[in-house]
This record gives sequence, structure tokens and C-alpha cells, in this order.
Amino acid sequence: MIQCDRCGKVLPPGSTKYLIVIQATADFDGFFGIEDFKYSSDLELEKLIQGLSREPDGKAMKDVFEKKALILCPACKKAFMENPLRDKKRDPLANGRFLH
Ligand SMILES: [Zn+2]
Repeated sequence: MIQCDRCGKVLPPGSTKYLIVIQATADFDGFFGIEDFKYSSDLELEKLIQGLSREPDGKAMKDVFEKKALILCPACKKAFMENPLRDKKRDPLANGRFLH
């Protein structure tokens, strides 16, 4: 049984539904701050690598790249596309304009 990931509405086979794919990628702008140079020595670099090895699996990867997929019903897809960042001033759920 497929359900809308936002409102929980059951989406029977053949019903209209949308696959929303969200991808976040670290955006390196080419700027290095003074903090970045503390890892310029081999000793500091080794400490950094040891620290990363103690982190939960996949955390370092999620820090630079993460992808999620959602299934949404038509109403939730419309609301999501109109206000993906859930700006309360623009959220149709916040003022009762959103109807299922
Ligand atoms: Zn929905």
C-alpha cells in the first residue's frame, strides 16, 4: 500500500501520485577560511581522518551529498511545489486554504 509521505493519504494503484527527488550537494565556492589551514600538517590531517573514522557510517558522505525521494498525492505535490521551504507566510496549510 502506497501512502502520501506528507499527509498519509492512501494512493491506490493507478492513482495520480508524484515522485519528488530532493538532492543536497555541498556547494564549495573556492574559499578557504583560516580554520581550513589547521589541517595543513600531516599530524592534523591524521587527526582529522581518525575523527572521521569514529563517526557513524555514512555521516561524512551525508555532509557533502544527500538524496531523498518522496511520494506525494496531487494536493501535497501542489503545496510542496508552491512552498518547498515551508515558509509560514506562504504555507497554504497555515491559513486553511489547503483542501484535500
Ligand atoms: Zn498528500
